[in-house]
Amino acid sequence: MDTVFVDRMRRKLRALQAEQRERIASLAAGFDVEMTASVGELSSIDNHTSDLGNETMERQKDLGLLMEAKRTFGLIEDALRRVDEGTYGLCAGCGRPIANERLEALPYAAKCVTCQAEDDEDLSYYRPAEEAALWPPFGRAAYGRHDIDRDDAWEIVARHGTANTPQDTPEAYDADDDGTDKGNG
Ligand SMILES: [Zn+2]
Repeated sequence: MDTVFVDRMRRKLRALQAEQRERIASLAAGFDVEMTASVGELSSIDNHTSDLGNETMERQKDLGLLMEAKRTFGLIEDALRRVDEGTYGLCAGCGRPIANERLEALPYAAKCVTCQAEDDEDLSYYRPAEEAALWPPFGRAAYGRHDIDRDDAWEIVARHGTANTPQDTPEAYDADDDGTDKGNG
């Protein structure tokens, strides 16, 4: 690969790395302050709980930003390692060169547009692993199926009862099975 281009990308990556490092430090510093201290002592008293609620929401947001910054930092480090190893700019998926324009826009891109698009598609199917061990409605009724359409989805939820199941359709109601003959005689 063009060494002038790679050198320029290395400088870009170093600058991005410094940027993210600062960002991580300032976000992380926010978490060192006790939550009650940052909203003022009164807020811990009952009638000020909404202040604490807002603060909790802000914390959630900051935590998300912090995690994202750390992830980006890791991607930049990986890219700098590829520069050192002489593999920078080669797609980690197919091994072909990543377009310079893509690297200009995203210096720490590890994959070409095609391979990245495939990854993103796989990710859209990703569901939490624990769902596989749970029963519906908390689990995944269509576990492992990526091809369900509206009719399939209806069939799956209808198994758990619909507006037309017995209690709403008298003709479907079985008087011999209403439970009154059990346990009372
Ligand atoms: Zn590729």
